[in-house]
Amino acid sequence: IYGNSRLNSPIEMSELLTNNFANQPHLTRNTRGNGVLRIPQYSLSQIKFLEELGEGAFGKVYKGALKKNGETQFVAVKALKENASAKTQADFRREIDLISELTHDNIVCIVGVALREEPLCMLFEFMARGDLHEFLMGRAPPSGKGLPPMRLLNIASNIASGMQYLASHHYVHRDLAARNCLVSDDFIVKISDFGLSRDIYSSDYYRVQSKSLLPVRWMPPESILYGKFTTESDIWSYGVVLWEIYSYGLQPYYGYSNQEVISMVRGGELLAAPANCPAPMYSLMRDCWKHTPQRRPNFEEIVNRIQEWINMGGCPEIAVSEAGTSGFGHRPS
Ligand code: ADP
Repeated sequence: IYGNSRLNSPIEMSELLTNNFANQPHLTRNTRGNGVLRIPQYSLSQIKFLEELGEGAFGKVYKGALKKNGETQFVAVKALKENASAKTQADFRREIDLISELTHDNIVCIVGVALREEPLCMLFEFMARGDLHEFLMGRAPPSGKGLPPMRLLNIASNIASGMQYLASHHYVHRDLAARNCLVSDDFIVKISDFGLSRDIYSSDYYRVQSKSLLPVRWMPPESILYGKFTTESDIWSYGVVLWEIYSYGLQPYYGYSNQEVISMVRGGELLAAPANCPAPMYSLMRDCWKHTPQRRPNFEEIVNRIQEWINMGGCPEIAVSEAGTSGFGHRPS
């Protein structure tokens, strides 16, 4: 049931707590914002809660129907759990502060908030086809039909564009992985998860001295060794996402423990080419996994390289030769 709406007034920064990004554990912002946040504020009575989508870092995530200006729009509602500690509430508001400045076709954008009553809610554009990891797994051959080569290239291109945008705004994601990308109804892939939803895929994360959980399978040596997260470490993770795309959602270094993965990455052993991966695409992955961070391509170069393949009507379909595959191809037998 919808009630009367409040006006969609922009929120003053002062309504949203601090500008302190230093403690943001997950999405790092290197520059400070200024001014007024321009996301609309809604009242809870405008939001109809439909089914539950899952559990996020702050509480439950629902599919919702947002009524505004006589129209209904589907949204994903992230509701802050009841009895959240003051710190969690502050994190929730800081997350709004961070992400409300990001707008791009390949970023899951926040479309509004409802902060005047409890539960406090963030509203995101609704991504009907769910997360990219599930999407890929559901189409994995031989039981699934696979995806056309152009679809795979478009997925790779969408993520690279979203990351180029984030990098150009001095954001370091730190947790780029297929599970953190979402797929829209019209197959556009967008980068999501600016929170810490690590419980759902806990086997993808590694606990360092019982502190934070780390996605070691997506991390370069310098992040594993020194805890250094930069745009260059996001590039490495992007290479692993390419590997996930072309292997239809296999877990990187499948069959190895996190501790073993750490030794392998430190020892310079790289993932092998996924089955049927075109050689130029595998070559791009390997460029993203250059040991020296500065030698990895940047997102602009990656976007351009993939665009060239798209313009050619597809990535040249040269299979990676057996001789060219050293390292670890983790395909369950
Ligand atoms: P958080 O980032 O707060 O930890 P998640 O992003 O992991 O939460 O969301 C939890 C669940 O809700 C996931 O299963 C995810 O697929 C789903 N979800 C999140 N955002 C959207 C969205 N915009 N559209 C559709 N489903 C979403």
